[in-house]
Amino acid sequence: MKVSIVRDAGVTTKPFKDYFKGFEKVEAVRRIFGQRTDEALANLRVEFAGRRGYMGVSETDGHLIISADYLSRGDMVDLYLDIIHELVHVRQFMEGKELFDHNYEYIERPTEIEAYRSAVEEAKRLGLSDKRICEYLKTEWISDHDLERLAKAVNVDCAGLKSEGKQRRVS
Ligand SMILES: [Zn+2]
Repeated sequence: MKVSIVRDAGVTTKPFKDYFKGFEKVEAVRRIFGQRTDEALANLRVEFAGRRGYMGVSETDGHLIISADYLSRGDMVDLYLDIIHELVHVRQFMEGKELFDHNYEYIERPTEIEAYRSAVEEAKRLGLSDKRICEYLKTEWISDHDLERLAKAVNVDCAGLKSEGKQRRVS
């Protein structure tokens, strides 16, 4: 090969708190991290990805990965609830838990159920209807059948929500 490649590119991340303000005061977030809330959020880094998708947590070092497109165009409530969901994964990572245990299906994975429960609890506290919460839970990678199973696991009634092949509102 007559080319060379600079291979130590690393990953560019930014401080979470530069972009997400006030989360350390949210009761749901304080429940996730307890006494380590301020420290956890102060140390958390975010990678903004130039590709489609929503959010996730790096399995290498536990930083957040967020689609810049979703961040700029996603529904504010969806974004907020996604952050709550992902912060649960950040804490799980800090605890050394396996986030992507493929012995489980996505919607049965204990780490996912815990994250979804926290987000749904917060959605209910905000006063969101079951219908709206189901719309939030209905992502393109979840079938109607799996949505009902997930809804049951997090105590929401999604039986009436028929899929129209919809994905989350991105304006
Ligand atoms: Zn998750």
